[in-house]
Amino acid sequence: AKVNGRNQVCFFAASMTRELVRKKEIEAELRAALARDELSIFFQPIVDLETGRIRTFEALVRWFHPEKGELRPDEFIPVAEETGVIITLGNWITAQAARACAQWPEDVTVAVNLSPLQIRASGAALGILQALREANLSPSRLELEVTESLFLDDNQNTARFIKELSEQGVRFALDDFGTGYSSLGYINKFPFKKIKVDRSFVSGPNIGVKSDAIIRAVAEMGSTLEMDIVAEGLETIDQVRAVREAGCTLGQGYYFSRAVPDYLAAMLLAQERNE
Ligand code: C2E
Ligand code: CA
Ligand code: CA
Ligand code: CA
Repeated sequence: AKVNGRNQVCFFAASMTRELVRKKEIEAELRAALARDELSIFFQPIVDLETGRIRTFEALVRWFHPEKGELRPDEFIPVAEETGVIITLGNWITAQAARACAQWPEDVTVAVNLSPLQIRASGAALGILQALREANLSPSRLELEVTESLFLDDNQNTARFIKELSEQGVRFALDDFGTGYSSLGYINKFPFKKIKVDRSFVSGPNIGVKSDAIIRAVAEMGSTLEMDIVAEGLETIDQVRAVREAGCTLGQGYYFSRAVPDYLAAMLLAQERNE
């Protein structure tokens, strides 16, 4: 039993080392990828459910790896977060998103996802304002999407970050609502303009009377507090009708469009405005 125990320890240590090596590899590859231009930002429309017009594009990062092909953010954002690369990567994403938005009509905004680590970094708010200045984009055209995990350890920097940028006109959206540690306290405490109801309330195995009632309650709250309620993951016209009927103001999902490159985003806008 003793020998077995020691072997187990060895095995455990070896697998930890492998995991560490793998992370180091992805970290190094990510830094190189940034330098080699293998990353790009795609944009997915967020549509006004009343008028059908595009109000916002959400920036979603893509990695076109020369050998592994297209990598989804779920495969590398977590590593970027653990290794700190997310700071460099995040700054780059915000800059690209701001630049693209500056080309669009003035009533269209861009939404950027922020990791908690980016927000806690010193000078985070300044970095974002600088990206906006460099792109010549008004702060009111930027939305920052944050998840509830940001508030897990109640941090002064977080509150300051949100306050500073809100005062400049940047808007905040609460992402993936209903999946994490949902507390109405965050909505009460921070000036969110938008709540994005997670797609698990729209499609999947747990859809029914309950999820419908929850969406209705959130939509009702949104209308009272003058917040937009976005339904995520809309894939069918039936889903679109259901969430509109439940009172959601905005929708996002493959039913409308997948995330597309910036030139296609610009084309979608031009098309819509020429009709
Ligand atoms: P998210 O912020 O919840 O983004 C929405 C995800 O849902 C996107 O996946 C989008 O492509 C996908 N989606 C949109 N409509 C539909 C639909 O109708 N059906 C289905 N099944 N999926 C839909 P994506 O691009 O793979 O991104 C995954 C996650 O990675 C994002 O979830 C976000 O948490 C993170 N992420 C993406 N880009 C960035 C980024 O630039 N920075 C950071 N920090 N995180 C990012
Ligand atoms: Ca998001
Ligand atoms: Ca989401
Ligand atoms: Ca998500």
